[in-house]
Amino acid sequence: MQTITTVLELRQVLAEAVNADKRIGLVPTMGYLHEGHLALIEASRAQSDVTVVSIFVNPTQFGPSEDLATYPRDLVRDERLCREAGVAIVFAPNVQELYPTHFETFVEPGELANSLCGVFRPGHFRGVATIVCKLFNLVRPDVAFFGQKDFQQCAIVRRVVADLNLPVEVITVPTVREPDGLAMSSRNRYLGEEERRRALAISRGLFAAGAEFQIGERNVEALVAIVRRQLDEIDRVQYVELVDTDTLKPATRPLSRPAALCAAAYVGSTRLIDNIILKPKV
Ligand code: AMP
Repeated sequence: MQTITTVLELRQVLAEAVNADKRIGLVPTMGYLHEGHLALIEASRAQSDVTVVSIFVNPTQFGPSEDLATYPRDLVRDERLCREAGVAIVFAPNVQELYPTHFETFVEPGELANSLCGVFRPGHFRGVATIVCKLFNLVRPDVAFFGQKDFQQCAIVRRVVADLNLPVEVITVPTVREPDGLAMSSRNRYLGEEERRRALAISRGLFAAGAEFQIGERNVEALVAIVRRQLDEIDRVQYVELVDTDTLKPATRPLSRPAALCAAAYVGSTRLIDNIILKPKV
């Protein structure tokens, strides 16, 4: 496995892979890897010849009062995990390498970025769309892997790829959870013991609603209310919404199309998100 930090070297190494007719898989991450990231890597290993993992805490997707400075970082550990997982290339540039001094061009997503997290994190998805496009242009992957945990991000990346005719297949990998249900996240390390216990209410609420859905509940408000009831102990709920999986607009009532039940909340000062997909049988 190679760790590459410059655009120039990345292009050189990848040119060799392309000449050898290798299928390239990209797993974009912000590092501090956990089993969720490893599931993406595993999917890439299964569907490509050369897996590239990017590790870059992207400043343009953080708001001014967000956790850019404190975001957990451990490149040595990440490299070890990548090596053990069979990754070919880790791309870990510094900020100046991807955002040199006169950088000023951004990719602006549309309506899909205006709901859910987009309401609370203005500019976040513009930063995500920009870095993902840059990584696609640098790595030129045949296939790229994203986690369902960041459901809105997946929808926006797919739309950017379609709208800008980018030659890459986008795969969404199911959310990997802790044994008790908490969605894995690099930010879980911010949680103290008591916060960690309370954080569980998010997945518990989503699963409770999912169980009611399975036995026939199709009322949108009722499903949202089931989640909200579990969130009593949560400090600040930003949203609990049931949205159409394609448009991210509020789901039709009663539910007749696949919908994502999505939640975002603060536990202490840690912002967590999670979702489950509900698929009515037609
Ligand atoms: P991050 O490093 O948090 O920006 O995440 C990098 C990629 O890993 C994104 O596509 C995330 O959606 C994905 N990811 C993060 N957590 C999980 C998880 N628990 N299960 C599956 N994928 C995840």
